[in-house]
Amino acid sequence: MPDYLTLDDVEIKGLNVLVRSDLNVPIEDGAVADAFRIEAALPTLERLVDAGARVSVCSHLGRPDGQDPALSLRVVAEAMAGMSSKEVAFEEGGQITVLENTRFDPGETGNDPALAARLADGYSLFVQDAFGSVHRAHASTVGVAELVKSVAGPLLDAELKALTRFLANPTVPYVVVLGGAKVSDKLGVIENLLPKVDAMLIGGGMCFTLLRAKGIEVGDSMVEEDMVDTVRGLLEGEHGGKIILPSDVVIANEFSEAAEHELVYVKDIPPGWRGLDVGRETNQLFTSVIRTAETVFWNGPMGVFEWAPFRAGTESVARAVAETSAFTAVGGGDSVAALREMGLDDAVSHVSTGGGAGLEYLEGRALPGVEVLKRWV
Ligand code: ADP
Ligand code: MG
Repeated sequence: MPDYLTLDDVEIKGLNVLVRSDLNVPIEDGAVADAFRIEAALPTLERLVDAGARVSVCSHLGRPDGQDPALSLRVVAEAMAGMSSKEVAFEEGGQITVLENTRFDPGETGNDPALAARLADGYSLFVQDAFGSVHRAHASTVGVAELVKSVAGPLLDAELKALTRFLANPTVPYVVVLGGAKVSDKLGVIENLLPKVDAMLIGGGMCFTLLRAKGIEVGDSMVEEDMVDTVRGLLEGEHGGKIILPSDVVIANEFSEAAEHELVYVKDIPPGWRGLDVGRETNQLFTSVIRTAETVFWNGPMGVFEWAPFRAGTESVARAVAETSAFTAVGGGDSVAALREMGLDDAVSHVSTGGGAGLEYLEGRALPGVEVLKRWV
């Protein structure tokens, strides 16, 4: 028995269908600055129209404090209209009708039953397709799905199927690459995945807290002091031997793009300097470990990739992940942005769109917006 139903399991013709998509796009100067998420959401909406449904779509946009006109979904509806062959309208009357920002109602984040009932009114099917929101128990993710027959949309289903391969029965060798700013953001993922992996490669800002825990002086590198004991426990624990840390780093004399920079072994970081990327020897090591793997998950840049002098580590991991024939997924807003900038997003098996939701899922936590779908099986 499946965990949840999908669009393949239900009759759609003639129904009024409400879809929860992720239309949380960046808005600049009153226009959509990057339509990536609209493009991703459209195939589900168009498929439902083609199957004979009248479709409404809801989403949150930003974090409005009340009804902020700058965060109205109207601009999203306009952008969507220009991208779809279907008739798209705002608030009423299209083949696809885009509803107003769910967070304009304070009941959204509190999962207010009155808002859930209003959202559900008139619909006989709810399609949850916003992976990036299912870790929140909101009116448009949980409340409405308690009231109307609910299924997982194709984007959500694909995310869950892909990410599940990193939690259960991965094809081995299984390698996880983690980076990014803070070890505290990803501690839950490290703890849950470390027993399952063959190797965990750690770079980015977070590696300095681990190096520090091993007694290495890391100068002014980013260290979360209150995490040092916790990560020492992991390094010295049963699975600590699977953690592979950088042997060399690119250091800078200040936190700026124009800083003086140098390549040194991690044990040679002078006081006053900080590591802003992993080094050449580390890139070779990480690439060779990734090449041995059959399953690879990558989250978090290896350095301050926004600045050219500190980009090589992230580019090296992106290339290795793109080149291998292993099952590969990349998650995290900044990692995916780096991958897209390099034009390598089509070369990985799965690009994960939900930042926080993806991390919570890989931490082994239940996602409320997915749990609620199970009652309709
Ligand atoms: P993602 O969005 O992929 O999950 P994070 O948000 O955790 O990644 O981290 C990305 C940020 O980490 C980037 O802005 C990058 O500049 C920063 N970063 C990476 N390495 C370092 C480092 N050595 N020192 C400081 N910041 C770093
Ligand atoms: Mg980020």
